[in-house]
Amino acid sequence: MSVPAARAERLLDRLLARGLDALLVTTLVDVRYLTGFTGTAGGALLRADGSGLFLTDFRYQEQSAAQVGAPWEIAVVDDLPRALAETLGAAGRLGVDETSLTLRAARKLRESLGDAWELAGGENEVAKLREVKEAGEVDALRAAARLADEALAEVVAGGLAGRSELEVAFELELAMRRLGAQALSFPPIVASGPRGALPHAQPTDERIEPDVLVTIDWGAELDGYCSDCTRTFATGESLPDWAREIYDVTLRAQETGLAAIATGTTGREVDAAARAVIEQAGYGDRFGHGLGHGVGLEVHEGPTLSRRGSEEPLAAGNVVTDEPGIYLPGRGGVRIEDLVVVGEDANEILTGLTKDLQVIA
Ligand code: ZN
Ligand code: ZN
Repeated sequence: MSVPAARAERLLDRLLARGLDALLVTTLVDVRYLTGFTGTAGGALLRADGSGLFLTDFRYQEQSAAQVGAPWEIAVVDDLPRALAETLGAAGRLGVDETSLTLRAARKLRESLGDAWELAGGENEVAKLREVKEAGEVDALRAAARLADEALAEVVAGGLAGRSELEVAFELELAMRRLGAQALSFPPIVASGPRGALPHAQPTDERIEPDVLVTIDWGAELDGYCSDCTRTFATGESLPDWAREIYDVTLRAQETGLAAIATGTTGREVDAAARAVIEQAGYGDRFGHGLGHGVGLEVHEGPTLSRRGSEEPLAAGNVVTDEPGIYLPGRGGVRIEDLVVVGEDANEILTGLTKDLQVIA
């Protein structure tokens, strides 16, 4: 069975389980996952009889003909709500993605479909499917992570101290693109000294000082799949004791998190295991974000490893990050992040750079 057919079949199971007559997918990344379409205007309609309709407009006629195949039938339409009204029967339950359908789009759908159709919100079913990766998806993530590793190694070989954060971030972007990345997972974070205390710091034009910590969080996009990794470096041997201490504690927490990631364990439990290491060291209130997140076509997707994360156990094929951090305002911070494929027996870590504290002057 082709990849799109297998995915449509898995989605059909969820559609039927929810008692829907049809499911409308409008979030572009979900449309891409289902149909292979990479344009910026398109929707997919799966019906309870298993038939699928891919809807787009005139601009994407040629592109969709090249990208979208069975089980999706292509319809080029002017007005999506009206086209849906024509193709759907008189009455039923239409599942929609309440996380992305705007109020305006919902109103238009209601007007076109009439009162006999119920719009059923609820969980984003395609996002749930995307949480479990197929082998081909893991291959793409592995390649993206390797490329990103290589790019960072290239950039830090040129040193860190004395360059500006922006310069390092730009070099890293260039290196990833040169090595074949189609895009960046997100603009790289390069945060040195006190700015390292901001988990999502934006690089500045400040020079990176000697003997400070520098946190770099970056990722490459390849074939639509994103990588995500963080390493924290030292820019000299004369690092203050507190900096070495928070590095060691973060690394121990990160390794505890890695050991806890397993099928059958929930994201909450993994978060709690890693968090306990930081709490016991007295830095619990300085680790304010979740331990990790799923990664795939989007750099942040399910499942979530956090205190408020899902109670659902992790499954083989989930790809998640493990990224504890300690942030000391006014002083600096550490974050260490790996990208992990949850396996039936053993996990695979896709990010390969060493986590021993590297001194890069
Ligand atoms: Zn990251
Ligand atoms: Zn991350």
